[in-house]
Amino acid sequence: MMPELPEVEVVRRDLEKEICSDQQILQFIFHRKDIRDPIPIKKINKLVGSSILKIRRRAKYLLFETEQGNLISHLGMSGSWRICDVAEKSLRKHDHIEIHFSDGKCFIYNDPRRFGIFDFSKDLENYKKMVGLGPEPWAAEFSVPYLVEKFKKINRSIKLSLMDPKIVVGVGNIYASEILFEAGIKPQKKSCRLSQQELEKIISITQKILEQAILGGGSTIKTFQQTNGNSGKFQNQHRVYGRHGKPCYECHQFIRKAEIAGRSSFWCPRCQK
Ligand SMILES: [Zn+2]
Repeated sequence: MMPELPEVEVVRRDLEKEICSDQQILQFIFHRKDIRDPIPIKKINKLVGSSILKIRRRAKYLLFETEQGNLISHLGMSGSWRICDVAEKSLRKHDHIEIHFSDGKCFIYNDPRRFGIFDFSKDLENYKKMVGLGPEPWAAEFSVPYLVEKFKKINRSIKLSLMDPKIVVGVGNIYASEILFEAGIKPQKKSCRLSQQELEKIISITQKILEQAILGGGSTIKTFQQTNGNSGKFQNQHRVYGRHGKPCYECHQFIRKAEIAGRSSFWCPRCQK
């Protein structure tokens, strides 16, 4: 399972606990020149001697902020970071990048399938891969008037709109099914036909469900090491996703499954209108 926004946020929180202002980057070690794309090794090596001031997240991008610019990490399908003491470092298969710090710690990036990204940008505003992304689910911009405006002419299903990162970032396939179940909205319903009330529900439930997933994520340093980015906890809480043919927890009607634009969608025909 691919790391989704909540898993990336958990990684961010774990890594950020490990940085402090008097800790400098001692060296980078690259075991390959590319992951999904070539790594700008020369540019990145110029950061030796500087500190990571903050680790932020935008959509599923981790941003290691330095005075010179941002290191950008995307976990792709199977990427993970772990932290260890350089003195006790033991490399594993698929370890591609190491960042060593002056306090003896190091961050190690592992990625068996190599769909991840490790990049550098001085100017994030214009960083190609992030241009055009919609707001974060918790941003004030993600509001009813915003969605009314966006959905006005959108004839496709709400499920697809919710998963469109140009509308809002961070809602993957599983979360979309779960959010719509809790909102009582059928995934096939056309985006432009949603009422203000339904939009309000979608916003607050999106925030709530993603927040729960972050809180349930636990420490990635432990859980993400051998798994493929699946913390495994959110899975146990699915109310519709993967439950087709089983009775709805609310009304006992059988959960249905259909493909919407090639992605499996699950819903309760009684609870969702
Ligand atoms: Zn039901």
